Amino acid sequence: MRSFLTHLECTACGAIYPADRLITVCPACGKVLYARYDLEGASREMTPEALSKRPWDLWRYAELLPVRDHRHALKLGEGGTPLLPAPSLARDFGFDRLLIKEESQNPTGSFKARGLGVAVSRAKELGATAVAIPSAGNAASAMAAYAAKGGLAAYVFMPADTPEVMKAECRAFGARVVLVDGLINDAGKLVREGAAAYGWFDISTLKEPYRAEGKKTMGLELAEQLGWRVPDAIIYPTGGGTGIVGMWKAFAELEAMGLLDGRRPKFVVVQAEHCAPIVRALAEGQRHAELWADAATIAPGMRVPVAIGDYLMLDAVRQSGGTALTVTDAEMMEGVDLAATREGLFLSPEAGAAVVAARTLRARGFLRQEDEVVVFSTGTGLKHTDLIAAEYPVVDPRAPDPLSGILAAD
Ligand SMILES: *Cc1c(COP(=O)(O)O)cnc(C)c1O
Ligand SMILES: [Zn+2]
Repeated sequence: MRSFLTHLECTACGAIYPADRLITVCPACGKVLYARYDLEGASREMTPEALSKRPWDLWRYAELLPVRDHRHALKLGEGGTPLLPAPSLARDFGFDRLLIKEESQNPTGSFKARGLGVAVSRAKELGATAVAIPSAGNAASAMAAYAAKGGLAAYVFMPADTPEVMKAECRAFGARVVLVDGLINDAGKLVREGAAAYGWFDISTLKEPYRAEGKKTMGLELAEQLGWRVPDAIIYPTGGGTGIVGMWKAFAELEAMGLLDGRRPKFVVVQAEHCAPIVRALAEGQRHAELWADAATIAPGMRVPVAIGDYLMLDAVRQSGGTALTVTDAEMMEGVDLAATREGLFLSPEAGAAVVAARTLRARGFLRQEDEVVVFSTGTGLKHTDLIAAEYPVVDPRAPDPLSGILAAD
């Protein structure tokens, strides 16, 4: 297995750059760079037959990943997540078939491990010794884990009100944690300054070319799990948008390799009621999304008021015939409750948002009963237990009849 990476290409101005040195955004125009591959060559080696003999992690797609020397791949068990049928939710919502791509089984409990696993591996391969990230939480803990594995110094900048678990994870992995009185974009400014002053490599969302390559493996894996075809719709809780952008790129590459036809799933962007820059830009027919003022939601991964990859997300939604919608914080928690009680899955609020979005779009008639829909469970509910309010009975085991009244209370 070897990488067929050839060069980098700017998604906005088309400029071409060599792939084998550390680089962030396009030096000419400041927009997003994409990794490009010899897809013809890759198609000869990454065949369904060859894949059938490889281990179930994301490195099985080595031909379409940037890491050149496999010994540089930092492995914590990323990728290879299950695609679970959710028959109870399907019945409740009115679908024949509803699937959940359960990304919370990744290292550090979210799909962020895919992007950061590949990006930190590649940064190390290209000589980085210190990496830095602005993050709403999950990206920071994923980066910190891979930096620890690879022996790189890690600096994370996160909003002060990020869930405590995510701060603790970063500390546990040995990262230097800095809390920011602001949101992820404010944290991003500090990372840029630190990168300039101290030489940290900045791994902000879509501000270097390789996180998207890791995220892309969600699309590769989904197509393979469905027997080399795509579903009718993908519902994705959206922040910085690497998931949307990465999967769109994955399907295009698989088509060029002859592994998929030209059909694309409808891409559905789900955002929070009080942080919905992409939903607004789509509704207004804009190519770029303006900064959302006073962004607020209980879902940290969706509290992203501005995204450098806005135009790439909007292209994917438009070209796929998809849509974008908002859900309220209360609806997200309803989604968490439904997935937990009906399917036995404890999801993060972001994933809860995607679950209720499926119901909303079915009710509106945007999705049909016969549509095969994949909901992305991007992160685990285990980091958000503070959002689940509960009171429990306390019993004295030495009392004469400690369990009397328990069943009655139900
Ligand atoms: C980061 C994150 C998101 C948003 O993902 P993007 O690909 O950056 O849009 C959604 N859910 C969770 C749990 C996240 O951590
Ligand atoms: Zn450019």
